[in-house]
Amino acid sequence: MAMKDANPGAKTTKCAKCSKVLDACTNVTGEDGPSEGDYTLCAYCGSLYTFDSQLDLVPVDLDSIQDTKIRNTLEMARGALRVFQSALQVKGMMN
Ligand SMILES: [Zn+2]
Repeated sequence: MAMKDANPGAKTTKCAKCSKVLDACTNVTGEDGPSEGDYTLCAYCGSLYTFDSQLDLVPVDLDSIQDTKIRNTLEMARGALRVFQSALQVKGMMN
């Protein structure tokens, strides 16, 4: 049985802020891979990016996003990421 690709289209790159390898992403609204204009967060440091037309990551300042619903969703995702990172640090699973 073949496993479904969890992130079709995602490229391996490094976070511009923390230099950790970013090689996967998960779509919060469906099963498709990333598309131009989608946003993503670095799972290690919370840096925000958008995908360009080649699906390369372009750093984005959260305050530059005019759509309040999208900005609020990204703020909540960042908050959830911080809680997850804190839990991993307590367990000694993240440096
Ligand atoms: Zn990072």
